[in-house]
This record gives sequence, C-alpha cells and structure tokens, in this order.
Amino acid sequence: METVVAAMEMETKGKVPIITVQGKPLKQIDPYKYKEFNMSKVVTVNKDDCTSCGLCTDTLPKVFRLDADDLAESHNDDANVNKAVVDGADIDKVQETIDDCPGECIHWV
Ligand code: SF4
Repeated sequence: METVVAAMEMETKGKVPIITVQGKPLKQIDPYKYKEFNMSKVVTVNKDDCTSCGLCTDTLPKVFRLDADDLAESHNDDANVNKAVVDGADIDKVQETIDDCPGECIHWV
C-alpha cells in the first residue's frame, strides 16, 4: 500500500523522478531499475502469432515496427529489439494496442 501511495504522488524533475509522500521527498529512483514503482514496462511480440496486420505499427510506430519478414517487433529507436522499454506515460497506449491486437501476440515481459 505504501508503494502505491508513493507512486501516485511521484513527480518528475528533469530526468530523475522524485518520490514524494505528503509533499516530502522520499528518494530518487531510476525508472529503468525500479519496476516496483510501475514507471516502465518491457513489451514484446510473439512473432509466431503475428498476422502482420500493421495495427500496432500504425498506432505506435515509436514502439512497434515490422521486421524484414513483415512480423511486428517492439523497439526503442531501433534498440532493445523486441524488448522495448515503455515509459509510464505510454503504458496505457501500449495496453490498448495489446487489447486490440488480432493475433493476441503482444505481451508485457
Ligand atoms: S497488431 Fe498484433 S497481429 Fe497486428 S502486426 Fe501488431 S503484433 Fe502483429
């Protein structure tokens, strides 16, 4: 419960989020190291079930792209191929794409 309260009260200053509880700084975190604060998630595509429909790549090209075989994969500016890190601000959008994927092949890691 304490983690949920802290995450709800988190604010970002520069690149490093500051966790505050009742307005008082708790500690600084690296969102790529502390998944318990739900700041980022990793998303992947099970290519075996991809239908190549292009929904994910059209909707979120910064997270999904088609490979040479026209199968979707996740990426971060061409890095973290098929293990893309999704910032907290984009998690809901990726979740909508997961829900809409006709192949049901996009998954959080
Ligand atoms: S939405 Fe699903 S089935 Fe369509 S291209 Fe993306 S991963 Fe493949």
